[in-house]
Parts: sequence; C-alpha cells; structure tokens
Amino acid sequence: MTDPTESAPNPPPKPTRLAPIVTLDAKFFWDAADRGEFVGEACADCGKLRFPPRPMCPHCHSVKRNEVKLSGRGTVYTWIQPRHPAPFGFKEPPIVATIELEEGYRLVSNLYDIALEDVKAGMPVEVFFVPTMGNHQVPVFRPRAK
Ligand SMILES: [Zn+2]
Repeated sequence: MTDPTESAPNPPPKPTRLAPIVTLDAKFFWDAADRGEFVGEACADCGKLRFPPRPMCPHCHSVKRNEVKLSGRGTVYTWIQPRHPAPFGFKEPPIVATIELEEGYRLVSNLYDIALEDVKAGMPVEVFFVPTMGNHQVPVFRPRAK
C-alpha cells in the first residue's frame, strides 16, 4: 500500500470558479472555449459579426449563421474590481473588464497577470483560458506586447 503523502507531485487545485451558464444560442461559444478556441458568430448571408449570439441577424434578419475563429486580440475599454459583495468562487476579486476585440465588438471578461493600478484604457490584451468547476473553461485576457 502506498503512502498518499509520498505520492507524485500534487495535482493542481480544483477550480473554484463557477462554470458558465450555457444558453442554446451561445452553446457553440462555450463548446469552443472548452476546446481552447475563441470563436464568434457571423451571419451566413451578409457576413456581419453579431454579439452576443442570437437566433437572427440584426442587419439582414437571416437566421443562418457561421462560427468564425476570432483573433483573441483586443484592447481594454474599461474595467473595475468588484469588492463588495465578495465575488463567489474567487480568492481575490477578479478585475472585470470590457474588452474591445480587433473584430470590432466588446465583451465582458476578466484581466489576469496585471495589478489593478497598472491597467490602462486602450492597453493591448490577448485571450487565454482558465478552468472552471465542472471541467469547463472560460476565456479571459492578459496584457500582450503590441
Ligand atoms: Zn446578416
């Protein structure tokens, strides 16, 4: 019988971040995130990107859509660090930021690898993924070189 205290290197701690709430329209986005891919939705008729995902194109009313791979690059538009009430599932409150994607729309995510006081409007960021409960992943952002 092996001594559990002498086992190989410790496994990474279990994620405490809540799994995303997956709606039917956004399932493709979260499925891609689980694969480590950052994708969006474009109209299959007029080609325009739409966000958040929705059943019908707001430009031409088509219900056809394509999944498109996004660059994962953007800039910080605005940000906060919510402290009260303490966000559930985080040891430290995350920096919540609106990211302006290269593709031209904004989404809300978290900033990592930077202190709150160092965040600047317009700073370039790139996507990466962090694990959640339930074996899922969510896209978050960190600073990148220009
Ligand atoms: Zn369209």
